[in-house]
Amino acid sequence: MEPTTTQPQGSPASACSGVAVVDSDKVFGIKSPCPYCGGKITASANAWEEDDEGRFYATDLDISCCNEPDLDDEEAWNSWDIEHGRGDYNEAWHQLHERIVRSMKAKVRFNLQNSDSTT
Ligand SMILES: [Zn+2]
Repeated sequence: MEPTTTQPQGSPASACSGVAVVDSDKVFGIKSPCPYCGGKITASANAWEEDDEGRFYATDLDISCCNEPDLDDEEAWNSWDIEHGRGDYNEAWHQLHERIVRSMKAKVRFNLQNSDSTT
């Protein structure tokens, strides 16, 4: 038994700092409800930056509400859109987005490697 001070390479599950490493296409279930209708929120990252350790954190997310209607249903879309942000210029989305980005930066790093090795 010898003391190890370096982290083993290539084992994402070994992080004991509370940081999880996930695939870049992971969809997150967000605990905060939709600020407009109270529905369930999911988020997936679409932009990343590298931290000091060369690991990637999300800087931009796609956030969606579970009550989003089908794209085909124009009428439903229109009323959903009115309900979801037209009144406040999406202010509540921006705040939610900012909050999730910040908490993910503290807790989640992304594995971007497999995105450029698709055969
Ligand atoms: Zn909603």
